[in-house]
Amino acid sequence: MQTKTLTTYQAYVAKTENAKLEPFSYEPKPLSLWDVEVEITHCGICHSDLHLIQNDWKNASYPLVPGHEIVGNVVAKGDAISHLKIGDRVGIGWQRSACLQCEWCLGGDETQCKQNRATCVGDFGGFASHIRVDGRFAFKLPKNLASENAAPLLCGGATVFSPIFHHVKATKRVGVVGIGGLGHLAIQFAKAFGAHVTAFSTSINKEKESKDLGADDFCLLKDLKSHEASIDFLMTTASENLDFALFLNLLRPYGELCLLGAPAAGEIKLPIFPLLIGKKVVRGSCIGSRGEIEKMLSFAAEHNIKAKIEIFPMSDVNSALDKLKKNQIHYRAVLKN
Ligand code: NAP
Ligand code: ZN
Repeated sequence: MQTKTLTTYQAYVAKTENAKLEPFSYEPKPLSLWDVEVEITHCGICHSDLHLIQNDWKNASYPLVPGHEIVGNVVAKGDAISHLKIGDRVGIGWQRSACLQCEWCLGGDETQCKQNRATCVGDFGGFASHIRVDGRFAFKLPKNLASENAAPLLCGGATVFSPIFHHVKATKRVGVVGIGGLGHLAIQFAKAFGAHVTAFSTSINKEKESKDLGADDFCLLKDLKSHEASIDFLMTTASENLDFALFLNLLRPYGELCLLGAPAAGEIKLPIFPLLIGKKVVRGSCIGSRGEIEKMLSFAAEHNIKAKIEIFPMSDVNSALDKLKKNQIHYRAVLKN
């Protein structure tokens, strides 16, 4: 161990399902050879944090310290960590560790590792003063990304970048459903990849903002008929369940429906014939591998892609969550210590 470590972390905790968050302190597990201890400066609030607090996915355990869009500075590290030094500014996303030895880890997609561990499921997350994670899941941030704009990239940015990186070409017509934390980043990344981008939203007041972010076209969810057969790659990022059959109609032949949103009543019902006859594809995607996160961060830095944020003091976490629940955040709440 190269530095003195802290013995107590301050955090905000939901003690039971749906509880308001309250101050909490805990003793971290001992710093292992591969761990880093990070003093947190900022943490984005992803809708997944809200799903966890509400136990929408029935997998949350309490006490729960949410938070998985973390930016902070390395203040201690295990002896095996050589790619980071004390004082480095790093980001941490949804995944805090993996075995790094299975076929998926060795193949470059640690998200599929059977031993993958989430930052704030079963462990305490980033609504806190500090966190300790496997240092191989802490990413050094490019200098020209400000910490508050970078935090939401660690989960939201990675989640939309991964499918865009693999499936979007400049010739494609991309649709983004749900212009929230993920959606407003998806518009920017897809545009930077050269695609023609259409934003699909429930809110008319997001038309101008979507276009300012780079969308070429905008459609209200109640007017989907006007955009039938217009999209090659459609990413759904809504936090609530959608009638996915309607969205299948938006696709051109060979079009792909890419599911990213993870609503509580997660269910998808689709008619078979449009899929067969239009040779359409339905896929899902989750977060990003370490390699994708590294690529996403440098791509964002190079193309000036930033999360649009509302900053709240960490102590005001409940106000930020209330606003997120009402779909009133433009476009990501970021907690600041
Ligand atoms: P967010 O900031 O709250 O944005 C969600 C957007 O969904 C809202 O801004 C809204 O967009 C739309 N929406 C809300 N209620 C709706 C309704 N009743 N019908 C249609 N659209 C509605 O959430 P986020 O942080 O971007 O996360 C979005 C979803 O992705 C969540 O379910 C989250 O858990 C999930 N997620 C998945 C992954 C993954 O790995 N796959 C990673 C991160 C997050 P408009 O106002 O434009 O309509
Ligand atoms: Zn997230």
